[in-house]
Amino acid sequence: CIKTNVNEIKIYTSEMKREYVMAQQYKLELPDAIENEDLMVYLQPKYNPQNDTLTGAEALIRWFYKGGDILSPKYFVPQFEADGTIDIIDRYVLRKVCKKFKEWKELGYPLYPISCNLSRHQISRPDLIYILCDIVDEYGVDHSLIDFEITESADFADVQYLIEVLNQLKDKGFKISMDDFGTGYSSMALLKDMPLDIIKIDKSFIDGIATGELNNKDMLMTQDILTMARHLGIKSLAEGVETFEQKEYLREWGCHYIQGYYYSKPIPISGYEYLLKKIVLG
Ligand code: C2E
Ligand code: CA
Ligand code: CA
Ligand code: CA
Repeated sequence: CIKTNVNEIKIYTSEMKREYVMAQQYKLELPDAIENEDLMVYLQPKYNPQNDTLTGAEALIRWFYKGGDILSPKYFVPQFEADGTIDIIDRYVLRKVCKKFKEWKELGYPLYPISCNLSRHQISRPDLIYILCDIVDEYGVDHSLIDFEITESADFADVQYLIEVLNQLKDKGFKISMDDFGTGYSSMALLKDMPLDIIKIDKSFIDGIATGELNNKDMLMTQDILTMARHLGIKSLAEGVETFEQKEYLREWGCHYIQGYYYSKPIPISGYEYLLKKIVLG
């Protein structure tokens, strides 16, 4: 069948129907999965390319399905975003990160900001700020250590609301990153109204860097985004950096942070703790 609304035309295929049915199944299994600790938070380290030092991480959910193989977030996050189930996961992730910060502080480990994905659904909740502050304050975590990653919006009315919510988060001292930058609908004008700390340049641009191609559009776009971010006083991060050449190019163009397989894949929290411990020991 074909469903249309103002901004999109979706054609539902049998594959999508199957995904929908599976997502309903995952939703039913979620409470038990959390109870059995089949859901785990992984951290993907972020680095400063100028000196290759650790600067923080992004928290990403991993579901060890029925205790076995990892079920990729792409099979459940989009569906859970559509029906709001994602709130349960996002709060679970934030709680875990805060619990860890408390532990690390007691252990005397260095504390670097960790970003948590904030779904569209969460942002539309009127009680969002209370829910987030409740969790973070329960563990006595400094708000500036939590960085919320948000994505762009297609809808202008939505954007005005989004800006309002972001200002409230900023007032509470949280950091804000614009995720997947360049793939959505943000205009320059809207960007300047958003209280952003970091722009995350989407992997689709980074993939085209240092491929040897002349007049490379991805490289030109990346340069423009980096320049624009600098003019707006916003830090820049490149996502999905996999090669030394990409890293070098981004470093030369003044990109502040790098996240990608070149430095590290997402790793279990214990692996990240090992990195922190190494820094303590010098
Ligand atoms: P994202 O927020 O854009 O996260 C980055 C994704 O890129 C992650 O995929 C990460 O593993 C992957 N990645 C990082 N560096 C590289 C690289 O160098 N090469 C390649 N090929 N991939 C790289 P992941 O963990 O599978 O997550 C996919 C998406 O699912 C995320 O995209 C995010 O939108 C969503 N997601 C994951 N965890 C959560 C969560 O806890 N809450 C919410 N709301 N969404 C989540
Ligand atoms: Ca993200
Ligand atoms: Ca991203
Ligand atoms: Ca993404």
